[in-house]
Amino acid sequence: MAVHLLDRIDHWGRIAPEALAHVSADRRLTYGELLDRSDSLARWLEAQFPGSRAPVAVTGHKEPEMLVAFLAAAKSGRPYVPIDVSIPAHRIERIVESSGAAVVLTPERIAALCLESGAEHESKGGRLGGLNRVEGRDPFYILFTSGSTGEPKGVVITLANLEAFVDWMCAEHSFRAPGETFLNQAPFSFDLSVMDLYLSLVNGGTLFSITKDEVANLKKLYEALGRSGVTTWVSTPSFAQMCLIERGFTEAMVPTLRRFLFCGETLAPETASQLLERFPGAAVWNTYGPTEATVATTSIQVTREVLERHSPLPVGREMPGTRVFICAENGQRAPEGERGEILIAGPNVSPGYLGREDLTAKVFFDDAPARTYRTGDWGRERDGLVFFEGRMDGQVKVNGYRIELGDLEANLRALPEVADAVVLPVSKGGRIESLMAFVVPAVAREGSEFEFSSRLKSGLAERVPAYMVPRKFRFLEAFPMTANGKADRRKLTELI
Ligand code: AMP
Repeated sequence: MAVHLLDRIDHWGRIAPEALAHVSADRRLTYGELLDRSDSLARWLEAQFPGSRAPVAVTGHKEPEMLVAFLAAAKSGRPYVPIDVSIPAHRIERIVESSGAAVVLTPERIAALCLESGAEHESKGGRLGGLNRVEGRDPFYILFTSGSTGEPKGVVITLANLEAFVDWMCAEHSFRAPGETFLNQAPFSFDLSVMDLYLSLVNGGTLFSITKDEVANLKKLYEALGRSGVTTWVSTPSFAQMCLIERGFTEAMVPTLRRFLFCGETLAPETASQLLERFPGAAVWNTYGPTEATVATTSIQVTREVLERHSPLPVGREMPGTRVFICAENGQRAPEGERGEILIAGPNVSPGYLGREDLTAKVFFDDAPARTYRTGDWGRERDGLVFFEGRMDGQVKVNGYRIELGDLEANLRALPEVADAVVLPVSKGGRIESLMAFVVPAVAREGSEFEFSSRLKSGLAERVPAYMVPRKFRFLEAFPMTANGKADRRKLTELI
């Protein structure tokens, strides 16, 4: 029988307690500490909320305590809801409320509880016992992503979903165990981070987090990368593109690097090609998948040969045991080479959105025995490879962040100064660079356009994370209308 994910992680705490599990800024966490503290916190959770399986919300920014709390939640049979500090208080409240979380834990509280509960337990003696941990189809984590109506939606990922993903990646990459250091770029509230976090922990690797302070100060970022010892790089293509601006970002800066794993947005051939040039000892992989199907479902190694044959790049082949197929408009499988919606069916597909049967029924269905998800992505299959060709709806990726334009529009309309709003992507060279908001004001504008848009930006930033706030605002007395009375997005696009 397969070994439980939690046992695979705890194993390192027993055989290599001094080994580093996590490095984040000047903080360090060993596998021994991770084991003891997550056991202690699991015990506290069970004592505090006996019999309840309500989620545990964990807020913070890449602190080692977040890892402790994730494992503690799972060890005590509860899913966790990771919430990065980039999410404003108003939205956190909505997430906590809609998740039904029993408790919200901050890094400070986690540290204090581990101390308390650890000391109490030591005096009684013994290890973790009697707790019903998360098994198979139990929810392991719940990730909240942008929802088109302005309410974030919680994607439920089970232990079985996570194990299917982790097992596939481990089989495909034969990571050294131990011996790898994984770059953690994405905050834990994004599913990309699941790739580095769990691939690192099950292999006894070191997770090397890049913090928001380091990203905001490029000198610090390159210093951190230089001392990271990273062997497996996990990031969005946007982050790598940003690093490539620095000429010194080469093999000499990170000599240990053996592979780049990308996911979350289009990997431009130029980015892959530059990386192969600058890091001749490293392989470049493109992986594709939505949060709803646990991080990634397809992959391909982008070699020189692949670059010569394909532009744009394919997203690859599906993981064994999962089916990816292109669905034509008539609901049938599209013939090879024809465009359609990408569907994913397999053990990595989520049961659905937490408490939202309506949303779940729209995009998930059972195609016995496999759970199936309609991605809303356009794609086509050629030469046994899947190609991603954009979105069918108002979801966009800006710098790797998943944003529903409808989410922003609803939150803009909720501001007292706004009567109506439309948000559109601003693209350059086929890539979305930023967002632009068209607003019909509800009040007479005071001050300049610049002052008014700054006021709206701050109002919006209290409701959505900073990365979602449109860069530019345009004010109109009314929107151009389509024949059926909707705001005419095509005409508005011409105004960008
Ligand atoms: P998220 O749930 O944040 O991972 O976003 C999922 C969406 O990101 C997918 O449905 C795609 O639209 C897009 N996406 C993910 N991976 C890739 C990729 N390798 N290339 C292009 N788009 C991608």
